[in-house]
Amino acid sequence: MINLYGQEMEKLKALMVQEGQKPYRAVQLYTWLYEKRATSFDEMSDISLKFRETLKEKYCLNLPEIALKQVSKDGTIKLLLNLEDNSKVECVLMRYSYGCAVCVSSQVGCAMSCSFCSSGILGKQRNLKPEEMVGQVLVINELLRQENRGQHVTHVVVMGTGEPFDNYQNVMDFIRIINNQKGLAIGARHITVSTCGLVEGIKKYAREGLQTNLAISLHAPNNELRNQLMKINKSYPLEVLIPAVKEYEEISGRRVTYEYLLLENVNDTKECAEELIELIKGTMGYVNLIPYNETNKNNYHRSSGNRVHNFLDYLMKGGVTATIRKEFGSDIDAACGQLRAKVENEK
Ligand code: SAH
Repeated sequence: MINLYGQEMEKLKALMVQEGQKPYRAVQLYTWLYEKRATSFDEMSDISLKFRETLKEKYCLNLPEIALKQVSKDGTIKLLLNLEDNSKVECVLMRYSYGCAVCVSSQVGCAMSCSFCSSGILGKQRNLKPEEMVGQVLVINELLRQENRGQHVTHVVVMGTGEPFDNYQNVMDFIRIINNQKGLAIGARHITVSTCGLVEGIKKYAREGLQTNLAISLHAPNNELRNQLMKINKSYPLEVLIPAVKEYEEISGRRVTYEYLLLENVNDTKECAEELIELIKGTMGYVNLIPYNETNKNNYHRSSGNRVHNFLDYLMKGGVTATIRKEFGSDIDAACGQLRAKVENEK
């Protein structure tokens, strides 16, 4: 069965032509799926009965099921979703003043095994298919619809479990589906992909012709420290990563965000701030400081508020634009991979 939610518009047009249909059928199907929110082929009244039967035989409209739902005091919703093979993935709804953002997972588990992150603990099981990423957004949209406050998902960050550039093509299809005007019509500038620094992916992404955003999980200003925190740095050290970021900026015309997790006495010193300023000086990127969500799986600690603010000050004085990430759902295991890890461990 081919899941229609996984079909990027051009691919769906090609499929329709293979079925002996006009490419326009694809546009019609998108309208049913994303605008009219049809849940069955029977509702698709402007498609002939005969072709609806063909669709039913070969295609499906399956969405992930909610296995667990946690609602935080601040309104953040974290879902654990059950996929067709019983794999579990997390997604999170965050409510900003400017809209509703969903943090989407791109893989079941993660192969990158960063030392501070819970997502890598269980390794990578498999890549998510485009429909499974679209499904995360649609399930959240449905919850918002039920709230009846006229809200829907306006922003998407691919910052959940998994490394998006280790599942490159599916993530690109996902982006094109949610960005399509006949799809979820989420503006490119409201879509962000976050990578731990897979250089081939960064270079390819630069050439996709998308106006979407890129975030780089940097977390350390030198190779010695970055090797300790992120194994991937051994394959793509900073002297390879930073030029790739520059190339991305030149080709796409977009500036990146550097994510920098603050771990007490590990990477939050004045020296680190100074090294960081030097490291990214030649790029247009700005720094997003992330307060660490502690887990009991390692010995890292969240930097105190004071240290976070000092770090921010050093950067600003050094001419680097930086912000502190707003936190959501700290009472509901909202940090990467924590909920899934907890549930899998309880089995
Ligand atoms: N693999 C991609 C996307 C998923 S991780 C990447 O590395 O960017 C999304 C972000 O959350 C990364 O910056 C990651 O380093 C960060 N992160 C992981 N564990 C965290 C934790 N416990 N607290 C805060 N941020 C965390």
